[in-house]
Amino acid sequence: MRYRKYSAYLREKYGARVHRIPLQAGFFCPNKDGRLSNKGCVFCDAYGSGPTTFNPLPIKEQIREGIKWAKRRYRARYFIAYFQAFTNTYNRPKIIEERLREALNFPEVVEISIGTRPDCLPEPILDVLERIAVEKELWVEIGLESAHFKSLEWMNRNHTLADFIDAVLRTKRRRKIKIGVHTILGVPGEGKREAIETARTISALPVDGIKIHPLHVLKDTELERFYKKGELQLLSLEEFISLAVDFIENIREDIVIMRISGERTKELFIAPDWALKKQEVLKKIDAEFERRGTMQGAKLKLGLSKDECVPLKEPVKLEKN
Ligand code: SF4
Repeated sequence: MRYRKYSAYLREKYGARVHRIPLQAGFFCPNKDGRLSNKGCVFCDAYGSGPTTFNPLPIKEQIREGIKWAKRRYRARYFIAYFQAFTNTYNRPKIIEERLREALNFPEVVEISIGTRPDCLPEPILDVLERIAVEKELWVEIGLESAHFKSLEWMNRNHTLADFIDAVLRTKRRRKIKIGVHTILGVPGEGKREAIETARTISALPVDGIKIHPLHVLKDTELERFYKKGELQLLSLEEFISLAVDFIENIREDIVIMRISGERTKELFIAPDWALKKQEVLKKIDAEFERRGTMQGAKLKLGLSKDECVPLKEPVKLEKN
C-alpha cells in the first residue's frame, strides 16, 4: 500500500468494515450566525456540510435509523457516530456532552467523530471530549483547509493557521483524543508549492488523520455564484491526481489518510464532474504513486538537511548600543 488507507486501518483494528453514520446534532456555526460572519465559508452549503436532509430526530433515533439502514444495505456490524453538520463543539459544554453521550450507549458504535473549527475548542469543551474519549475512541476533525492566510481569507474561514496550531497542541494534551484534519486542494492561487507547505505544516504537528478534498462547487454556496460568473477555475482530474500525490508524499507516514474526495451527494453537486467518481479518482492516485515509485511521506522534509545549512558568506554584524 502506497499510503495509509483509513479503510485498512479500521479493518485492522476492528476486523471488519466500519460504516459512518452522519448526524445532525442541532448545533450551528459562528461563521454563519453572525458572531464571525453570516456568510459562512465559500464552499459551505445550507446543511453545514452534513447530511442532506434536515433531520429533527434526537441523536439516539438518528443512530438507530442509520444502523438499521447500513445493516440492511451492507450487512455492516460496526459504526462510527459522525457528528458532521456545522460546528459540533459550538454550544454549552453540558449540551454537547448530553448529545455525545447519546451515542455512547450503542455497543455497535465503536468510535465517535466530531467535526469542528479550530477556534471552537476551548478548555471546557476539551474536558467534555476527554471524558467521552475515556469511554469510547473519539476523533476531533478540525477544519484547516489550507495553511495559507490568503487562501483562508478567500474561503472566508475567519480563523488563522495560528488558531489551528493552538487547537491541535491543546487537544493533544488530552492524550485519549485523536485528531483529524480537513484540507482542500485547488484553492485559486495555490499550486504544488502551497500544497506541499500545507502538508508539511500538518506533518509537523501531532495529528493522527487527514481528509483531502478537491475544491468543488455545491448548490446554494458562494462558490456557485463565483463559478456561474466564470470567476472560478477548478482543477482537472489530472491536476488533482498530481497535486494529491505531491501532497501525500509530504504527509508523515503514520498519519491515516481518511478520505481523498468530496463527501457530498449528486443532488447538491455542481462541479467538477470527476469529483463524484470516487473509485476512479482513487485508482488513478494508486497508479500515479506506482508510476512515480514513491509513497506517503517519501518527500517529507521538516527543517533543513545538513547540506542545506550553508553558512552565510558574510557573518552578520550585530550593532552594539
Ligand atoms: S466552519 Fe463549517 S459549518 Fe461553519 S461555515 Fe465553514 S464549513 Fe460551514
